[in-house]
Amino acid sequence: MEHFAVKRITQELSELQKHISPNFCAEPVGTDLFDWHFTLKGPSQTPYEEGLYHGRLILPLNYPLKPPKFLMLNNNGRFEVGREICMSNTSYHPDEWQPAWTIRTMLEGLVSFFPEESEGAIGALRASDEVRKSFAKSSWNFKCDQCGRLGEIWSRHKEWLAPIEEEKKEENKGEEGKLEENKGNEEKVKILKEEEVKEEKKEEKVEENARVEEEKKEEAAPDMKEKYKNMPDKSEVAKFYRNMNIQIRVLDFLILSLLGYIYYSVKF
Ligand SMILES: [Zn+2]
Repeated sequence: MEHFAVKRITQELSELQKHISPNFCAEPVGTDLFDWHFTLKGPSQTPYEEGLYHGRLILPLNYPLKPPKFLMLNNNGRFEVGREICMSNTSYHPDEWQPAWTIRTMLEGLVSFFPEESEGAIGALRASDEVRKSFAKSSWNFKCDQCGRLGEIWSRHKEWLAPIEEEKKEENKGEEGKLEENKGNEEKVKILKEEEVKEEKKEEKVEENARVEEEKKEEAAPDMKEKYKNMPDKSEVAKFYRNMNIQIRVLDFLILSLLGYIYYSVKF
């Protein structure tokens, strides 16, 4: 059972370190995984707004089958210091505890309990806004024996939080950029499509022209055939060779005649 709890708590711890909450920080004190200290930032637009609230979170050995216990360690005007907070008058009733709830959801829940008034609940306090505000102001100097001064804990937490908040901003910017890019791409695609359509039309026109030319040629064809009928040799080259052939034969005849004349004149 304990082994299961250790596994679960380790998972929650790494998840908490991976996704740092802007409302709280929490981690085990020393080497005991079942004993945690946490620091909450008071919810805004309440008398706790300026305050930091330090507390202890004790996990049962059969966690998450049973809920964790909470107690506050510094004055806050809402919960008694050093006494277990009774959650039965809040939205988290221990008898309705569900193992799916986590340290994160419990601490986020605890932050939201601050402005709620829980009449008569064990550990609950009634105090004027002035008292709560003055506790809030002095809370930054509260020093936990194990964790140190709350002001320092929180400024470290803000340092860890800063790059994450920056990243979030960048992500948002990135997404806007992507949207812009997408818009640009859509425009480009539109233009390309229009050009494609134009190109297709052009091609169609060229094809149409070619077809018309072809038809014209076919129409003209009978005349050409008529012409070629009386012309045995169609090409200019063939014509040239034929002419040359005739010339060579004429030359042959002249040379032979000349040789014959010379032969006879010498002999007789
Ligand atoms: Zn502490």
